[in-house]
Amino acid sequence: MRSDSHIVSRRTLLCVGVGVGTAALAGVGAGVLTHEDTGGGHAQTGAGSPKGSDPAPGGPAPPARGGAGAQPSPAAHDSYRLRPLAGETSMGEPKPHAPVRTHAEMFLPAGQGQRVIALTFDDGPHPVHTPALLEVLRRHGVQATFFVVGENAAAFPDLLHAITADGHVVGNHSWNHKQLTRLDTGHVRDELGRTSDLIDRVLGAPPRWCRAPYGDWHPPSLRVCSDLGMEPMGWSVDTQDWARPGVAHIVRAVTRDAAPGVIVLQHDGGGPRQQTVAAVDRYLPVLQERGYTCVRPEA
Ligand SMILES: [Zn+2]
Repeated sequence: MRSDSHIVSRRTLLCVGVGVGTAALAGVGAGVLTHEDTGGGHAQTGAGSPKGSDPAPGGPAPPARGGAGAQPSPAAHDSYRLRPLAGETSMGEPKPHAPVRTHAEMFLPAGQGQRVIALTFDDGPHPVHTPALLEVLRRHGVQATFFVVGENAAAFPDLLHAITADGHVVGNHSWNHKQLTRLDTGHVRDELGRTSDLIDRVLGAPPRWCRAPYGDWHPPSLRVCSDLGMEPMGWSVDTQDWARPGVAHIVRAVTRDAAPGVIVLQHDGGGPRQQTVAAVDRYLPVLQERGYTCVRPEA
């Protein structure tokens, strides 16, 4: 399976410089923010991402993504079907309807050169790598966003609690990592809706942020994202950690391309992620030494 980077690298090039707009970020402005770091500006992901297979989960890994065995339980399916969509319920106060985006934002609203950066981790939760990553983030006092795959979250719901207990944000990364642009709208709604419904049932609130597998959005999937009360989030720095390029490569990707407002793509699931965990532990002190504050969006 291709990594998320394969498709978005092209789109990133088209969207460089676009601000997040209304995306509200918690923690922006906190910490030491200066205007000294002007090197590099917004990073662009390089074209020509590896086309190798996204490593299959190994060891005590989550269920294989896209597997035929990932059929929804009737109860879960019914639960989703019965759940009113955001903004479409006639009961009580109408829920705010997220605006329909034309693309996923690649940068945070880091105005005035604030040294804020967002770390994101996709494809989990994973029973080994997610807890390891949480420990590292906790030790460095950093919060991040975890875009979870629904079937993995269903297998390890306690990890959703562990993620939010440390102040991180849980986002929607579809039910089993299908490429949304290849699905009809009803199927897209099922992929995203099932996952939002699961997160809602486990955590008591649906996610506000969504990342399409491979970062591949199109107008129908962006509409469904909005219908479900979410905003799409892309990325501007691709570590390509999914290909396990080595800890030093991942560290270098982040420290080289760190700039005010970038969103960093990494993975805590979908395969062995020891390199990612080790890299985060190594680069966080470097970022903090430069005065960067890691921020997460509002949950
Ligand atoms: Zn993914």
